[in-house]
Amino acid sequence: MPRMSPTHKHGIRTRAIHAGEKIDPTSGAAAPNLVMSSTFVLSPDVAERGFGVSVESASDIPYLYARWGNPTARQLEEKIANLEGAEDCLTFGTGMAAATGLMLHLLQAGDHLVVSEISYVGVAEFVRNNLPRMGVQVTAVDTADLDAVRSALRPNTKLVYVETPANPVMRLTDIAGCARLAHAAGALLAVDSTFATPIATLPLALGADFVMHSLTKYLCGHGDAMGGSVAGRAKDLLALRMDSGVHLGATLSPFNAWLILRGMDTLPIRMAAHEQAALHVARFLEAHPAVKRVLYPGLPSHPQHALAKQQMQNFSGMLSFQIKGDALAMARRMARDLKVFHYAVSLGHQRSLIVFLNTAEVNKQSFQLDGAALARLQAEAGQGLFRVSIGLEDAEDLCADLASVLDAG
Ligand SMILES: *Cc1c(COP(=O)(O)O)cnc(C)c1O
Repeated sequence: MPRMSPTHKHGIRTRAIHAGEKIDPTSGAAAPNLVMSSTFVLSPDVAERGFGVSVESASDIPYLYARWGNPTARQLEEKIANLEGAEDCLTFGTGMAAATGLMLHLLQAGDHLVVSEISYVGVAEFVRNNLPRMGVQVTAVDTADLDAVRSALRPNTKLVYVETPANPVMRLTDIAGCARLAHAAGALLAVDSTFATPIATLPLALGADFVMHSLTKYLCGHGDAMGGSVAGRAKDLLALRMDSGVHLGATLSPFNAWLILRGMDTLPIRMAAHEQAALHVARFLEAHPAVKRVLYPGLPSHPQHALAKQQMQNFSGMLSFQIKGDALAMARRMARDLKVFHYAVSLGHQRSLIVFLNTAEVNKQSFQLDGAALARLQAEAGQGLFRVSIGLEDAEDLCADLASVLDAG
C-alpha cells in the first residue's frame, strides 16, 4: 500500500515526512492512524501457540498488547530509526524513561558507568542517587576531555553515557573519539542527542551504540506531548523492548506518538529556522553591554566551535548566557516583563522559552561537583545561566523582547 518507502537516497525533508508512515489499508487514510486500542485480536496461528510470548516470538507477532507495541508508536519508531540511520527504535513515555530504561537494562550490580559530569538534571540525579543504591559504580567526568574519559574507564565499565550539547552549559563531546575509547575498553556508548536532533548529528554513524532523545523537545516541537526514544541495533532494541516496555511499562501513549509523528514532519525546516534565529539572538546578546558571556556552539567564541562545525550540521536553537549585573533580580524582571518569551523550563518548542538556572542550587541538587569540576562549571555558568530555547518567532521580536529587560538592568 505505501507508494514509497523512503530510503537514504531520499533527502532528509522527504524522509521526515514519509518515513515510517503507513497508509491505512481499510480506509486509505493518508495521515497516520491513531490506534488507541490496548489489545489486539490474535490470529488462529498465535492462538494455537498459547499465551507464552518470548523475546524471540514477540518480534513476529504484529501486535498483542499495547505495552509490547502499538501501530501508531511503531510508525514513529520507524520514522526516528530512518532519520537516525538506525536498524530499530523504541519509544518511551518520557525522555527520562528512555534514559533510565536504557541504563537499567544495560547495567547491573558490579558494573561501572562513565557519564558526562554535566547532563540533564534528571539524569544527573538518577546516576548519582539511584544507580549506586543498586550496586552500580558511577564516574562522572568532563567528557569534553577525551583523556579524562580514557582514565575513567575500568575493566568493568559497561557503558559510557554522554550528552552533547550538554544541558545547560552547551559543552560538546567528541562522539567518534568517545566511541573509539569506549569500544577499546569493551564498553558501549550511548548519546543523549536531544539538543542536536538527527538534523544536526547522527551519533550512530559516528560510532555510538545507542542514540537517545527526549521527544518532548525538538522532535515533537510544539510543547504539547511528552515522549522518549532509544535507537540502535535491532537485536539490542528487541531486548530493551522486553525490559523497558514489557517489564518497566514505560510505554508511550499512542496519542502522544501521533502528535510527535505530526511534529516530526517539519523537523528539518524547523531546525533550519531555529538555528537561523538562534544565531541572530546569540550575536545580539554577545554585543549587548549587560551580557557577560554567551554559550552557543554556532558562535566562534564557543570554546569547542571547531568540534561543533565538524560534528553538528545545524547548531540548533539552544543557547545560554550570563549577565554582568544581579542575575536573580534579572530573572524576576524577565518573569514579570517579557512579552514574547515564556519564562518556563523545557525547550525545542515553536514558542521561545527562557529560564534562570542558579549555579549553586543546580550543583547542590543535581551535579554535586567539587574541586576542578566545580571550577569548570563556575567558569561557564558564573552565578547562574539564562538558558534560552529559541522558538520560531521573528528573531527581531525576540531581540527586542530581551532588550526590554536587559536595557533596564
Ligand atoms: C528534557 C531532557 C531529558 C528528559 O526528557 P523528558 O521528556 O522531560 O523526560 C533528557 N535529556 C535532555 C538533554 C533533555 O533536555
